Amino acid sequence: MQLRSNCTFCAIAERSLPTSFVYEDDQLVAFMDIQPVNPGHVLVAPRQHFASLDELPEAIGAGMFTLGQRLAAAIRRAGLRCEGICLTLADGVAAGQEVMHCHLHVLPRFAGDAYRVSASSSTPPRAELDAVASLIRLALT
Ligand code: ZN
Repeated sequence: MQLRSNCTFCAIAERSLPTSFVYEDDQLVAFMDIQPVNPGHVLVAPRQHFASLDELPEAIGAGMFTLGQRLAAAIRRAGLRCEGICLTLADGVAAGQEVMHCHLHVLPRFAGDAYRVSASSSTPPRAELDAVASLIRLALT
């Protein structure tokens, strides 16, 4: 199994850093974020080092999402303040990825919490949407 010696999440996966684990299996670990946005903020990561979505095998990505769904249900049942859940995976520095070991945030949300995503959007013409859809469709493998 590939681990990176300078990677915090690889160190967590091999249990060489103090970590509050929620779940472990052969492929995945889930643990408490040490800087939670809200109480119950859990991270899901593969045991093996994959820096990006491009490197991440689809089967492991599917497992990460499935575990994220199970954790979301557990967070709702656990009595934590939770009116909604955000599943977030930032891929790349421009997307906000801070630890270069692919990971999924499972983040409980509630009205008035401090979490903010700031974005502006517009409604482009259908022809523009169709053109962009075509570019992505042709690149889909
Ligand atoms: Zn790593």
